Amino acid sequence: MRVAIAGSTGSIGKQTLEVIRSTREVDKYQVVGLSANSSVVDIVSQAQSFKPAVVAIADPAARKKVAERLKLTDPKIEVVDDATQLAALADVVVNGVVGFAGLSVTMSTLKSGKRLALANKESLIAAGPVVAPLRKTAGAEIIPVDSEHCAIHQCLRSSQNFPRDLSRLLLTASGGPFRGRSRDSLKDVSVADALKHPTWSMGPKITIDSSTLMNKGLEVIEAHELFGVSYDAISVVVHPQSIVHSMVEFRDGTTIAQLSMPDMKLPIAYALDYPNRSTSSFGVIDWAELSRLDFEKPDRDTFRCLDLAYQAGRIGGTAPAWLSAANEVAVETFLAGGLKWSEIPSIIEATMQHHDGQIPKTVDDILVADRMAREWAMKETK
Ligand code: MG
Repeated sequence: MRVAIAGSTGSIGKQTLEVIRSTREVDKYQVVGLSANSSVVDIVSQAQSFKPAVVAIADPAARKKVAERLKLTDPKIEVVDDATQLAALADVVVNGVVGFAGLSVTMSTLKSGKRLALANKESLIAAGPVVAPLRKTAGAEIIPVDSEHCAIHQCLRSSQNFPRDLSRLLLTASGGPFRGRSRDSLKDVSVADALKHPTWSMGPKITIDSSTLMNKGLEVIEAHELFGVSYDAISVVVHPQSIVHSMVEFRDGTTIAQLSMPDMKLPIAYALDYPNRSTSSFGVIDWAELSRLDFEKPDRDTFRCLDLAYQAGRIGGTAPAWLSAANEVAVETFLAGGLKWSEIPSIIEATMQHHDGQIPKTVDDILVADRMAREWAMKETK
């Protein structure tokens, strides 16, 4: 299987290469393409070990450096500017790009009629109405590389009559580092505090999103887009151990859950090998050690981002694009020290007041929505 990895120097990209490296079957996967924004050292060493045909680097200065270095060691590797070129070479594209920047990879992969192993939830959230028709391209399919949606994908395989048999989807949330804290006690938390995720090791953007519950809110929209389930039939349950990755409740009262220790390599391997099961195992549970699984209701007053996401999802059109863009601006500003953690939902809420109710028909409509939302969000952070 020919695999291309967009965002190969990020957390998902690196773990995908670990999955590929750990397979026991020789020549099962060939890495045909890698892409990064600007991480020169990492992508050069990845290219030297995996020998892809193409390496795409978005940043021009970084691209020049990568080309110079690979020319000396691996002159056959072509260095290009655009990660959308990867889809043509691959059977599956892993989209591990961070944020809205991943949209072009999502679009190009589906247009090429290839499997998209999707870790970039923002592209589906922001551009749902534009991405949906591309999923009908012959050969195109999305296998989610998000632990919750991978879990739901697996649970749904137990039904022969989806959606008829479905009662609801139950997305689990760890609750993040601030679970159980009051709104008052969270007024002055630091960036370092927000980056301390209790169960998952992930990139900074998604870790902050987990601390605000925006990650779960985005995942609610992602689940709606991926599985075509209405917002009324998507619930969120806090589960601090992150072992039950999500559940599906059927109309006969049965709940099917997927369990494993938290390890993103499992969803990555699942997406590569679907419909087969990977021969490498990840996140195996030691049942002698596992003593309890807890569940509780999310605190929607303290973690307001969850309901902001439900609201945007229900409005539809470009509202999720606005929500996601405003959130990216707020999180970047917080990470740079320009905003309090407790102000993140306020910035998003204030930005959403300017949403113009557009129904997107083209990618350009999405780009415009993204840009407008960012402009408003920047103004709100000032
Ligand atoms: Mg997730």
